[in-house]
Amino acid sequence: MRVAILGTGYVGLTTGVCLAYLGHEVSCVDPDTEKIASLNRGTPPIYERGLQDLLGRVEMTFTTDPGGAVASAEVVFIAVGTPPQPDGSPDLRYLRAATHSIAEHLGDQFTVVVNKSTVPIGSGNWVESLIRGARPGRFAVASNPEFLREGSALTDSFYPDRIVIGADSQQARQVLEALYDPIIQQSFAPPPHLPRPDGLATVPIVSSDLASAELIKYAANAFLALKISFINEIGNLAERVGADVREVARGIGLDSRIGAKFLQAGIGWGGSCFGKDTAALIATAAEYGLGMPIVNAARDINQRQRIRVIEKLLAELKVLKGRKIALLGLAFKPFTDDLREAPSIDIARRLAQHGCTVSAHDPVAMDRFRRDFHSEDVTLAATAEEAARDADALVLVTEWPEYLALDWTLVKASMRTPLVVDGRNFLDASLLKYGGWRVVGIP
Ligand code: NAD
Repeated sequence: MRVAILGTGYVGLTTGVCLAYLGHEVSCVDPDTEKIASLNRGTPPIYERGLQDLLGRVEMTFTTDPGGAVASAEVVFIAVGTPPQPDGSPDLRYLRAATHSIAEHLGDQFTVVVNKSTVPIGSGNWVESLIRGARPGRFAVASNPEFLREGSALTDSFYPDRIVIGADSQQARQVLEALYDPIIQQSFAPPPHLPRPDGLATVPIVSSDLASAELIKYAANAFLALKISFINEIGNLAERVGADVREVARGIGLDSRIGAKFLQAGIGWGGSCFGKDTAALIATAAEYGLGMPIVNAARDINQRQRIRVIEKLLAELKVLKGRKIALLGLAFKPFTDDLREAPSIDIARRLAQHGCTVSAHDPVAMDRFRRDFHSEDVTLAATAEEAARDADALVLVTEWPEYLALDWTLVKASMRTPLVVDGRNFLDASLLKYGGWRVVGIP
């Protein structure tokens, strides 16, 4: 099938490469000339596990010009950003611009315009009316929300838990089911570096109307966000009563009604989605006169968790002014270089406000940090060991597996104080304590 994808970021690029691997004829469109030039050289502009390899295995085109790609496409995906505005509602200017370029270039064949961006409820209808007003051709609009997790985006795209298709047109639904058939049936040969999970036979389809598909995406992210905030709230109580939140999480997570995932206490969520999508859900509900107290509480708790790092350092070091604090990890999670709403940014800023000097290391996100978040207050170190030299404390911000394998004895010898605040409760605390470290978890 001929596919055009407007927006070549984390979602658009992942979707495009996967569809090209499945044999579709894919054109990725983006106005960002640097991004397109980099892709045309075979270099992904983002870090995502397995992406570089898969890109080398597929035939697809990258262009800044939507004209040809949209005109010949049977399916046009919209995968542009929908960043938050100050009032929490999403900024729809990129969605509007993408929709206008679709309206301008749509061909005469039946085309399904698919919203993959996370968009407010009613956006499907809005996109439909914008295109119909400009071009009353043969098209239908569908919603196909994306659930990939950065860091395992390709695996999530090839082997999703479900595919949600919201559409009022039966023909649009059929086109999308045909497009995704190799994934639904799991009939494709897996890329060598992305093996199929054991036991995966078929992928369920959730067919719904447009509004339900749009709400499914927001509801899913809100639920995951509140699971994290719930365990953090329990963690704060656990600390007071002398309980171990990791044992509590295991004890409740083994209950199949609850499930173990997203129950890791720590400094909370970051990234481009949970903050933005929970804010958008609250803003949408407010338009209908509804409050969202549970979602609001999840956001407040998440904000508080970041401050806990500063509180812990203050409790241990008493004076922060003049201290050197080393951050291990900048990305909002491992296996990505995404720094959007990363806790590291907030923590570094607060430490600088307290008069600390901050050194930081991340295996893949330092280039992006230099480019997007350049700060006089943060020195980037080529290695974790270098970041830690002469530091008064280490803060583990991102749970990169390689930090487990550090030579912690050597690191300790180079520091002023053998103190580590483990923001993800990720390190082997008993082993470190045995080696003479003071280990403080969050909460
Ligand atoms: P991104 O910022 O990485 O990429 C968006 C891209 O759209 C940019 O490259 C930008 O240049 C391009 N763009 C802007 N205007 C355009 C236009 N008129 N035509 C073509 N391209 C245009 O964003 P992302 O992280 O890929 O997210 C895209 C959408 O998917 C958002 O709505 C997001 O909420 C949603 N989403 C993201 C994730 C994730 O993990 N990143 C997961 C699920 C859903």
